[in-house]
Formats: sequence, structure tokens, C-alpha cells
Amino acid sequence: MTKKREVFLSEPVLTDAEVTALKDVIESGWITMGDRVYEFEEKFAEQHNADDGIAVSSCTAGLHLVLKSLGISSGDEVLVPSLTFVASANAICHTGALPVFVDIESINRPLVSVSAAEEKRTARTKAIVVMHYGGWLCEMEAWRAYADKHGLLLIEDAAHVPGDARVGKLSDAGVFSFYGNKNMTTAEGGLILAKDPELRARIRRLRSHGMTSLTLDRRAGHAYSYDVTHLGFNYRMDELRAAVGLVQLKRLSEWNSKRNTLLGCYQDLLADRDGSLELPFSEDRDTTAHLCPVLLPQDAAREMIMKELREQGVHSSIHYPPTHKFSYYQETQGDQRLQNTEKYADRELSLPIHPAMSKSDVEYVVHSLMKCL
Ligand SMILES: *Cc1c(COP(=O)(O)O)cnc(C)c1O
Repeated sequence: MTKKREVFLSEPVLTDAEVTALKDVIESGWITMGDRVYEFEEKFAEQHNADDGIAVSSCTAGLHLVLKSLGISSGDEVLVPSLTFVASANAICHTGALPVFVDIESINRPLVSVSAAEEKRTARTKAIVVMHYGGWLCEMEAWRAYADKHGLLLIEDAAHVPGDARVGKLSDAGVFSFYGNKNMTTAEGGLILAKDPELRARIRRLRSHGMTSLTLDRRAGHAYSYDVTHLGFNYRMDELRAAVGLVQLKRLSEWNSKRNTLLGCYQDLLADRDGSLELPFSEDRDTTAHLCPVLLPQDAAREMIMKELREQGVHSSIHYPPTHKFSYYQETQGDQRLQNTEKYADRELSLPIHPAMSKSDVEYVVHSLMKCL
């Protein structure tokens, strides 16, 4: 019997190099934040033309840390897309501020919209969190100009775009994710790029309990005591994750180009069809290709299609159920309408895309999808 083909939505590439790197950490006797974390920060920053980076335990932790370090607190409002992972809105809530949900530009460009943001801005608005959906960068010049005009802080949820050196250049801070399904992984993990050295110092301090010295320094005999100057967190990365990150980082640009090639295959194959499917960002390949989103016909039974795809071994997903529709946000904010977000989320289907896929996998996915339709 031949094994049924199975195409996962995403899949981390993990090799002997990661195993060796992990073994080295274990044999070193030092597993919590230390030299490997600093090396990972340095190398990641270097690859993104940044002065420095701050590794954290997750992108969610990083977003919370950035918002806290920028002084966002209760009474403030923060503009945020609804069409994103819930982490951004949750992180805003944890500062005591109110996340205010902003619609996307259109179903063909599902990026948070400047004009929709303006409709939601009030005197209490302090910041905007933009998200580079699927790997396509938001128009950062326009967002910077908008933020400057109204004195707002600008934060990037860069979970989908590791490898894009534009992150952190026009914003106050950008936060990446290295969760297992992202373009590179440390299992759990994240990293913050921020231009302002003073902000970076505050973020570093808050990352580790608001303490003035680190365990490693004390172990090395550099410090015998410490003070706590701020109310901080434990959002550190550890040596094991950093060691994996250092290995993964070396292959990030190769993987991002592979993703682009696969996305191109999808675009070519799907463009040939009768127009029953729509492709957001069609033709636009300036992306880290984290996702391959398609829009199903308006009346398509998406759950049935996903189930039938799964029976053919093809995994799919939805990015995203709108945040403002979740029970918690309905209960805390009431019913809201975000027309484009809802229209898009109702029809969106994410197809498998990851560097271990082949062109023939893409053909198989497209063929399977066409059968379902
Ligand atoms: C994955 C993801 C996050 C959360 O990242 P973690 O590292 O798991 O905390 C946040 N935002 C977006 C857009 C994501 O895709």
C-alpha cells in the first residue's frame, strides 16, 4: 500500500544541525539566557540591518513588553486590526488600554487601513499596532506619516515577516515570532527590533523583572547584588531556543525564497482557473510568503471544502477569525461591524506553504481544491 500524500499547512525544517546545537548547550552546563541569546540577538539584528535586537519568550510577550515600555496604560486606546492573531489585542488589554479594532483596506489587500484607522481615532488614541498580513508589508511610510501627524506610537506585529529588513525602521518597534509554524522557529520565541537605544534599554530591563543585573553576570562574578527599578516581567529567551534560532537564521533567506517560488506556483496555477477563486495580493511577490491565502466563491461551503481537502491529505486553515467576533471581545466591547474584515474572513482559506513542499505538492493541493469546488 502506498502512503497517502499529506501536505501540512506549515512544517518546521529541523535537521541534525539543530540537534547538535541543542546538545552543545546541554553539555555547556548553562541553559538560561546567556551568550547564545546575545549572539542570536546580534546576528538577527545584523541580518535585518538593525543595531541590536531583544530576544523574548514569544511574540505575544514581546508585544506586551513593547507596549508597557512605551508607557501604554489604562485610559489609552490602541488601534489594531481585527484580522490578525488575537495576541495583539490581548497584549493591549493586559496594559489596561482598550484595543480599538480597525478594518482592512479591501478584500484584495487585507492590510489594516489608514482611512479606517482615522475613523476610529479619538483624543485617547496613543498607538497603532499594524500587522504585515501573510508576509506583505503594510505601507509603512503612510503609517509613519499618519502616526506623526497625530502624535501616535507605531508598533509592528512582524510575526509573518522575519527576514524583511524594513521592519523596525519606520516604527517605534517591530516584534517577530519564532513559533513552530512561522518562517523560522525556536519552538516558542520572539524578537524585538527598536531604533531608539533608550527604548531598547527599558525593554531589556522589563524583560527580566525590572532588575539591574542578570543571573549570568552574578554567576560570572560581575555583580553581587541587584536593585529592582521597574515593575518587570520574565519574558526572557533561553540558550536552547537561541541555539536553534542561530541555526535557523542561517537558512531564513533561502526558505523565504523557496516560499516565494511556491507562492508563484500557486498564483500561476490558480490564475489559469475560471476565476472562481480570488487571490489577494495577486501578482505581488514582495513578501516573505508566510501564508498562501485564497478567497473562495461567496457561496462556497468552506467547512465542507476543508473537510474534503483533509480527506485528500491537504491541511488548510483560516487566517483569521476576526478578533472582534470572539466571545471575550463581544462581551467587553459589544457588537461591531468591520465590513471588509468580515467579508474577507468569511471567504478566506489558507493553503499549505512551507519550504519542505515541492512544486508537485502545490499542484496536488490545487488539483485537490479544484475537485472540491
Ligand atoms: C503567531 C503570531 C503571533 C503570536 O506569536 P507567538 O510567538 O506565538 O506569541 C502574533 N501575531 C501574529 C500575526 C501571529 O501570526
